[in-house]
Amino acid sequence: MAARRLPPRSMTCVRAPGGIPQRMAETADIVIAGAGIIGLCAALQIAKRSRSKIIVLEKGAGPGEGSTGASSAVCRTKYSLDRTVVLARDGIAAYRNWPDFLALGDPFARLHQTGVLWLGNGDAGTTVREAERLKMLGVAVATMDDAGLAELYPSVNPCALAPDLVHGAPHDCIAGGIHMVETEGGYVDPVDALQDLLRVLRPRGVEIRFGAEVTGVDLRSGDISSVRWSGGEIRTPVLVNAAGPWCNALNGLVGLDCPWPLRPTRIQIVHIDRPDTVVGPVPTCADPLGGIYFRPQNRGQQIVLGSVLEEDEREFVDPDDFDRGVDNDFAAIKLHALQHRLRGLGHLRGVAGYSGLYTINDIDVHPVVGATPVGGYFVANGCSGHGFKLAPAIGSLLAQAIIGQRIAGDTEVDASALAYDRAPIEIATRSVLA
Ligand SMILES: Cc1cc2nc3c(=O)[nH]c(=O)nc-3n(C[C@H](O)[C@H](O)[C@H](O)COP(=O)(O)OP(=O)(O)OC[C@H]3O[C@@H](n4cnc5c(N)ncnc54)[C@H](O)[C@@H]3O)c2cc1C
Repeated sequence: MAARRLPPRSMTCVRAPGGIPQRMAETADIVIAGAGIIGLCAALQIAKRSRSKIIVLEKGAGPGEGSTGASSAVCRTKYSLDRTVVLARDGIAAYRNWPDFLALGDPFARLHQTGVLWLGNGDAGTTVREAERLKMLGVAVATMDDAGLAELYPSVNPCALAPDLVHGAPHDCIAGGIHMVETEGGYVDPVDALQDLLRVLRPRGVEIRFGAEVTGVDLRSGDISSVRWSGGEIRTPVLVNAAGPWCNALNGLVGLDCPWPLRPTRIQIVHIDRPDTVVGPVPTCADPLGGIYFRPQNRGQQIVLGSVLEEDEREFVDPDDFDRGVDNDFAAIKLHALQHRLRGLGHLRGVAGYSGLYTINDIDVHPVVGATPVGGYFVANGCSGHGFKLAPAIGSLLAQAIIGQRIAGDTEVDASALAYDRAPIEIATRSVLA
């Protein structure tokens, strides 16, 4: 779908024949619904290439009330499709160079480069091939055997046997083989990242309003003409749906019959205090054998634990009414898997948990980004468990689609890869590890 040229800024006041100024509807060049990581990265990427008047409307009282605030914000590149690897690589590059990306000297957020460990599980051939593939795509990776792993992460058990998650039966652990580490990967504090984006967007003239819900959308001749929100109305030719798990409601307001099934999905997270008996640095780690991923948090004092299994991404919910706690069964199974993978956990303390939402594209688990059949209406939805790392790159795709201009640092990936009118992507793994 063609990029849209923006009209010049319009005035907000006119002088009536009698000389008394009359208020007209407020105007903007672009309205973005949602101030999560996608909406704010899109706003920055647009502001970097145009002087368009941008207004971001966020229904929450502050940043991070949707998916972003609950995110584990793991930044890793290993995906099965090369172009998703490149998209992740380009998104994560922004976090690695966060002060430059923002043009901000003292950001709150940073990429904690713990390394992202992919355990070999005894299949050295696959690990080595994956490492070569990622290197070819510009990702920094290292491979190592069990001894090398022990030097880097002494608490990680390399065992290639799956733990018995049904009966909890112990086993004698075996060697793991060859493992791969994405040496520049890790995680970010997601709310710090949002705060940083607010700090740079406002001085650039981007207006971000909290407690501001989009409640209606008007079209003229099939194109966006104005957006109604809880505080008034904005005439605008462009509306961006960055509403995360509420994206379907916004499509409904626009009257867009979206062919992509975008499912707000309950995602459970467990976190624990890290005991002193866990020695050395804890990596960000994907452990498909145990069905978990984990990473350190809070200067390494805690460990965050989630699932990598598709079966744990099947609880489709109403984004305004879902259980924000964690199920006992889920916590018990994931903690059992963690106890197998991380030595020295002992008796666990400070076990807690919560649930957040992400929006799964139930056809091919990839985001849908760009123009739609409604003139001036752009979407960036269905980001699943990938949206945090991809956000700077998705912002780049959106900005290119809206403004029609590339700038240095834009992702190499072509916009057609995630376009609204693309064919479904053929994908072997539909879990978060897609
Ligand atoms: C538990 C969990 C773990 C995750 N782990 C990872 C990970 O490790 N790595 C990774 O890359 N990604 C991860 N993700 C996914 C990632 O966090 C999301 O894909 C990403 O945050 C989506 O951002 P967003 O801006 O689209 O959505 P959101 O952050 O939900 O932002 C959308 C915003 O729109 C607002 N809104 C909605 N409707 C309206 C309206 N009508 N008017 C105004 N405002 C509106 C909402 O209030 C919300 O703040 C995880 C997510 C969860 C929940």
